[in-house]
Amino acid sequence: MRTAIATVSISGDLREKLAAIAAAGFDGIEIFENDFLAFDGSPRDAGQLVRDHGLEIMLFQPFRDFEGMPEPQRARVFERAERKFDLMGELGAELMLVCSNVSPLCLGGIDRAADDFAELGERAVRHGIRIGFEALAWGRHVNDHRDAWEVVRRADHPSVGLVLDSFHTLARKLDPGSIRSIPGDRIFFVQLADAPRIDMDLLYWSRHFRNMPGEGDLDVLGFMRAVAATGYDGVVSLEVFNDQFRGGSPRTISVDGHRSLLYLLDQVKRTEPRVAFSVPAMPDRIAVSGIEFIEFAADQREAGELGGLLRQLGFRRAGHHIAKDVELYRQGGINIVVNSEPEGFAHSSYLMHGTAVCDLGLKVEDAAATVERARALGADLFEQPVGPGELKIPAIRGVGGGIMHFIDDRSDLGRVWEIEFDPVEDSQAPAEVGLLSIDHIAQTMRYEEMLTWLLFYTSIFRTHKTPMVDVVDPAGLVRSQVIENAEGSLRITLNGAENRRTLAGRFITESFGSAVQHIAFHTGDIFATWERLTDRGFEPLEISPNYYDDLGARFALDGERLERLRTANILYDRDEHGEYFQLYSPNHGEGFFFEIVERRGGYGGYGAANAQFRIAAQKRALERKSVPLALGQR
Ligand code: MG
Ligand code: MG
Repeated sequence: MRTAIATVSISGDLREKLAAIAAAGFDGIEIFENDFLAFDGSPRDAGQLVRDHGLEIMLFQPFRDFEGMPEPQRARVFERAERKFDLMGELGAELMLVCSNVSPLCLGGIDRAADDFAELGERAVRHGIRIGFEALAWGRHVNDHRDAWEVVRRADHPSVGLVLDSFHTLARKLDPGSIRSIPGDRIFFVQLADAPRIDMDLLYWSRHFRNMPGEGDLDVLGFMRAVAATGYDGVVSLEVFNDQFRGGSPRTISVDGHRSLLYLLDQVKRTEPRVAFSVPAMPDRIAVSGIEFIEFAADQREAGELGGLLRQLGFRRAGHHIAKDVELYRQGGINIVVNSEPEGFAHSSYLMHGTAVCDLGLKVEDAAATVERARALGADLFEQPVGPGELKIPAIRGVGGGIMHFIDDRSDLGRVWEIEFDPVEDSQAPAEVGLLSIDHIAQTMRYEEMLTWLLFYTSIFRTHKTPMVDVVDPAGLVRSQVIENAEGSLRITLNGAENRRTLAGRFITESFGSAVQHIAFHTGDIFATWERLTDRGFEPLEISPNYYDDLGARFALDGERLERLRTANILYDRDEHGEYFQLYSPNHGEGFFFEIVERRGGYGGYGAANAQFRIAAQKRALERKSVPLALGQR
């Protein structure tokens, strides 16, 4: 399988784009005329530059408003085409994309269009060029790939074929299954893009909101499976118009793009019985059963403070690392590691971000396979020297620069706590408060990074995303999207901050980059947990009394129940399946906090409706007093 990406998909000048595209592992590009209009060399130089990067120009585009024109316009479009053929010759491009005519002058008529293409094909052959016809979703007469295919079929010229574009087919809700009846050798090129489902003008949607396969809501997999069924084994290319990508890092967007293609093609290979193209071998998406541990980096003093905080939450010190300044805290099935080593990754994380989560340990089905899949999808592996008696725990770099380790039960990895930690008798061990497991973690990032994280999690692990929701912070919107597994034992919320004045934005500014902003623990009885915490001096985040007045009205809660919630500062939500209770710790430093939740019945959400009240309370608290422990502060 050969992969390509349209140069318009990413930012930068031509040189920057080519460097990023080549580094991400693509075989070639689709070149847009505008890309070298701004370039300071000749078309021949541009072509050479592409080849110098080890890339090939796989498509030249676009050639617009061609078919079905009346005279004298018809003669002129053929002259225009001849000039483009010359240009393509200099560039070293062999395939030209002609998109369906949108001109009000276009006369329509399948046979008229077919005749025009037959003639264009005849002229193209003399230049060694082939023509691909693409139906734009907003084409005047041809706006459906089935009609474009009929034009190509009737043109009946070996140099005229079809270009398929997932956006144009799926945006118009056309059945991608209809592609299965097209012969694979008549499809000259395949362009892929996904998009979030938004009800808007097709052209505007296409030009601004496309994204990488797997990042949006369209059935790009169904589309590509249909393409594969035809026997197509040509180029698969990304053509993604997205305002954010055009302002983003060319390297990150290229890496995401290549990852999205490999992920998609791997899925196609697993679900379509006969596929003509080859895809790099990799293990299937990895099942994750949950978060095995969360590791904080801290200095000695703050490690002590963090330990005090964890004790207040009912954690006991359960182990000390055999060789390092690393402590293990435990409650229920939760493992929290506090690393205050003066060297190594945790220390460099501490220097960069202050006391913060530096490492997540995921419990997976197969740790070695996880790393193999992540590597195949372009993730960076992570290794640091292992001391005597320590395990070599497979790890990769996450998106925000943090580390992710993988534990499984297939090897000694499952016994890491016995092998690497000496048990500790904690003389100050507190009584547990009923925390059982990690319900979810919330990672905060700049809004532009969200799709990168989303693709990272969903392509490597057997997880899915839920629709994005807007969370209102008094200073602006925060977008929130959930990644979870089918069992609900792995839940990660991604929060994208659009500006630095929101609580989330302030957190990433102060902690120098995206990071875990809160950890939510699960309890089986939130009121009992609250009582035990109160006995230990825990003061929850104070919620406005107005919230409870509104809550009583919204859910018709009886007075007694409402009073219990109000007294304990517990937030409440309900969906068609069950109920949700949330209790928050104060903010630590610039906005890190703990949350305690209880789910009753099959409640599957995260209390999104409560988020704005929680944020308002946190902002009030931040203004009133500072809380010890500078989590998230340098
Ligand atoms: Mg296209
Ligand atoms: Mg939460």
